[in-house]
Amino acid sequence: MKFIYCLLLPVIGLLSCGSDTASTLQKTKNDSSVTAILPLGQIDDRQVQLLSKELAAFYGMKLLILPKKTMPESCLLKNTKRYSADNMLKWLLKQKPAQCDRILGVTTYDIYTNKNQNPHWGIFGLGYKPGKVCIISDFRLKQFGNRRDTFLTLVTLHEIGHNLGLPHCDKHSHCLMNDAKGTAKTLFAEKKWLCSNCRKLLKKS
Ligand SMILES: [Zn+2]
Ligand SMILES: [Zn+2]
Repeated sequence: MKFIYCLLLPVIGLLSCGSDTASTLQKTKNDSSVTAILPLGQIDDRQVQLLSKELAAFYGMKLLILPKKTMPESCLLKNTKRYSADNMLKWLLKQKPAQCDRILGVTTYDIYTNKNQNPHWGIFGLGYKPGKVCIISDFRLKQFGNRRDTFLTLVTLHEIGHNLGLPHCDKHSHCLMNDAKGTAKTLFAEKKWLCSNCRKLLKKS
């Protein structure tokens, strides 16, 4: 039950909830990996700072916030304001500073990938598994009002989880590695929490 309350608490409270989160922190405390965050478009500094704090607390990694950039036109879908997430990942890799282990792009623009026979399927985020790059978009989260930042955090922890080698999880509906299946429904069930199976996999990685 303790995780049911997590979403209702302010961010600082969330970090101290439950022993499961604590054990994740324990594992990653000796993790000296560095994740670069590249803010793109009109993303709020406040949101970037929040994600930096959340990643440090959840995975124990170090963060480096890079200067904001404009979205690369080469990734734009012709005659739209939508960007190819797959192309964005390739572009982002080139922006990764050599001293960083991975890079996370955060944008306000709509991003898409090829899914379910739709070549332009709008998504919250995309990341390689395992890998050194992921991207998340706030575009489809704006509609959730005061839960927007909570969902942005969940999507970020999910994509970085993929980078760290975690696959999608069907063991627990609250696990943040649960597949969004292309809808927001899964996000409503997810907590800032990894199930024991995912934590085991994370330890092995
Ligand atoms: Zn995923
Ligand atoms: Zn899981």
